[in-house]
Amino acid sequence: MEYETVIGLEVHVQLQTKSKMFCSCPADYQTAPANSNVCPVCLGLPGTLPVINRKAVEYTVTTGLALNCRIPEYSKFDRKNYPYPDLMKGYQISQFDLPLAVEGTLEIEVDGETKLVGIERVHLEEDVAKLQHVNPLGGASYSLVDVNRSGTPLMEIVSKPDMRSAEEARAYLTKLHSVVQYLGVSAANMQEGNFRCDANVSIRPKGATEYGTRTEVKNMNSLRSVYLAVNFEVERQRMIVEDGGKVVQETRGWVDDRNVTVSQRSKEQAHDYRYFPEPDLPPLVIAPAWVEEIRRQLPELASQRKIRFIEQYGLSEYDARLLTNSKAMADYYENVLGQKPLKGSTLEAFAKNVSNWMLGDLSRLLNLAGQEIREINESRVTPAHLAELVDLIDSGTLSVTMGKTVLEEAFASGDSPSKIVEEKGYSQISDSSAVESAVADAIEANPKAVEDYRSGKESAAGFLVGQVMKITRGQAKPDLVQKLVREKLESSKNG
Ligand code: ADP
Ligand code: ZN
Ligand code: MG
Repeated sequence: MEYETVIGLEVHVQLQTKSKMFCSCPADYQTAPANSNVCPVCLGLPGTLPVINRKAVEYTVTTGLALNCRIPEYSKFDRKNYPYPDLMKGYQISQFDLPLAVEGTLEIEVDGETKLVGIERVHLEEDVAKLQHVNPLGGASYSLVDVNRSGTPLMEIVSKPDMRSAEEARAYLTKLHSVVQYLGVSAANMQEGNFRCDANVSIRPKGATEYGTRTEVKNMNSLRSVYLAVNFEVERQRMIVEDGGKVVQETRGWVDDRNVTVSQRSKEQAHDYRYFPEPDLPPLVIAPAWVEEIRRQLPELASQRKIRFIEQYGLSEYDARLLTNSKAMADYYENVLGQKPLKGSTLEAFAKNVSNWMLGDLSRLLNLAGQEIREINESRVTPAHLAELVDLIDSGTLSVTMGKTVLEEAFASGDSPSKIVEEKGYSQISDSSAVESAVADAIEANPKAVEDYRSGKESAAGFLVGQVMKITRGQAKPDLVQKLVREKLESSKNG
């Protein structure tokens, strides 16, 4: 029997507002000392009244529009009741049946094929406090509560069950992440929990029209874990079905260090949230004129920027896509291009060279740095440094080989390429007398190669060129070395 995978994703995005969702406390909970950004409203004291954060609504509408959603004129907040120590009021203000945005789409790309994934809804709610469970060796365990995060604005984006593989789920998250980042509505850092995903997964016999029973997987904090968790769940469900069993609808947690999902609670134990309209907040009327104003101000998104990069800078579609996947990368790129005037290079050549350095050596260095540097703008190589490096190569001061070394040093130290070149004496030797003496040394030290060349072995010349580059520590101009080695070999052949 062949099975088809069905996936729907729920993504929680922390909005980058100054204040919290329903009070004026600062929303920054990450750097503030524990329990310092707290007031009676977000502490859930009785008798207080929430006030809706306009910016959070604007951000949610912005996201809805970017996801091609319809923005209904009438929306409201509801109470979602459940008892848990991180929920200060005993209920969370969320949106139940009338969310801010509905019926959208997101275009994803897998293996060169594009596909539209439906967006069911985008709604607004509040985040909960942070619990820290402490289990001292030999002592009684206890939990600490930090209320700073309580009441910070949280946007939830719910997809239709339209994805059919872990690859599609990953592509959806990558694209959604890029949209949210480009819109500037969230820091959208997965590791820090600004962008959290729950995956609903089910399987059904290929060709079936009804969906199978789904499980919902939580606790994934990277694209990689979502990908692994979906595949694990598909395989687990397939084994149950093939054994004649039934998949139980339940919430499961992803265990990162074991690469498995484990049952957290089944439907029977599931909460009955007893949603009801939030009596302390008026219904939210979103004026169509405001929606249109937000629509007009939507920033350029990755797909549009990619097209502009191709047209404006003459980049290939492939390079333009890689450069615009992350906003930080695209901003960095345009920042490099906007640096000082270039010596003897056209904008198109410069644009291509900068792209090559960013996607090649600089990306490699960023990957090696791993978690330490998350985005290119955190790199010690500033856009001005990269522009300088490319310029040093274009103007012939540095060979490409030397350029790689200089980039590595700039990456490690944060020094400018010109300073590194000056201090280390790295500049390319174009003075032919210096190169000539290196060629003479190489020939003298390698009589065997010279003999080989004389007896017709052309590759021996290449070997000698390599030796000269070694003697000059890569600083000789390669074309000059080529020319001099050939001349010298030919004259020794004749002589
Ligand atoms: P809940 O609030 O209980 O999680 P929702 O109706 O909001 O329920 O659905 C949550 C997610 O589950 C949505 O993203 C939806 O696309 C997805 N989903 C619904 N049914 C299935 C299914 N059979 N298989 C996979 N995903 C599903
Ligand atoms: Zn507060
Ligand atoms: Mg759910």
